[in-house]
Amino acid sequence: MPFFSHKSRRRKLATQPVSDSFEQIIRQNFIYDRLLDADERQRLRGIASVLIAEKYWEACGGQSINEEVQVTIAVQAALLLLELDHDFFSDVQSILVYPGAYVQQQRDMWAQGPTSDSSSNLGEAWFRGPVILSWADAKHHGQQLGTGHNLVMHEFAHKLDMLSGYVDGTPPQRTKADYERWHTVMSSEFERLCRATQQGRQTVLRHYGATNVGEFFAVCTEAFFTNALALQNENPELYEVLRSYYGQDPAKRFESVTWHRSI
Ligand SMILES: [Zn+2]
Repeated sequence: MPFFSHKSRRRKLATQPVSDSFEQIIRQNFIYDRLLDADERQRLRGIASVLIAEKYWEACGGQSINEEVQVTIAVQAALLLLELDHDFFSDVQSILVYPGAYVQQQRDMWAQGPTSDSSSNLGEAWFRGPVILSWADAKHHGQQLGTGHNLVMHEFAHKLDMLSGYVDGTPPQRTKADYERWHTVMSSEFERLCRATQQGRQTVLRHYGATNVGEFFAVCTEAFFTNALALQNENPELYEVLRSYYGQDPAKRFESVTWHRSI
């Protein structure tokens, strides 16, 4: 497809109003939408519409692909892109959806083929490959706030990390100074989580983030969007680095909801 029509098709998708059923699914399955302002909501729907149209959605393990599945997953992924200079996760051609936890041949992100290990998974993000998700968990997490846990945001944060060509917990930054600040803060915060995990201390960040720096960024992203006030309180420098990268201030959204309206 020529570049021009590709671009104009995206523009059309991103600006046309979504259907009533699309809105209804957001109301039921994406509680975070209530924290956004009118402009953010409109852009979120636009990005999600492009993701729904451009990705190949593959049903696995008896799951079916319908509008509810697509909208629920796409809006959660779209939230990450809201203020980023992005290309709609263009290295993700396919989104595979299982009904729940699934047994998948584990494949190292760098490996060319599956290894012999297998275990039960809720989701995966393959390097230059698909995102794989459990529908039960994608839906459940979209309906929850304050948990610090969101499967869709976790897996798509891995895809942002991979944009640099490495899986090193560092998505592309704008300037050299941003890279330096990112490395300084993220390294010390990762060490802090590793210590807390070894000592069995609970933190705002899930202990799974201590697995490696790639998982650390993905777990930080979950907490940043879904448990922002607690993260800002416990890890202010980490929160600030993520705020600068994503160009969003979720803690402010939570505060305004607390004071001005109930959700
Ligand atoms: Zn992960």
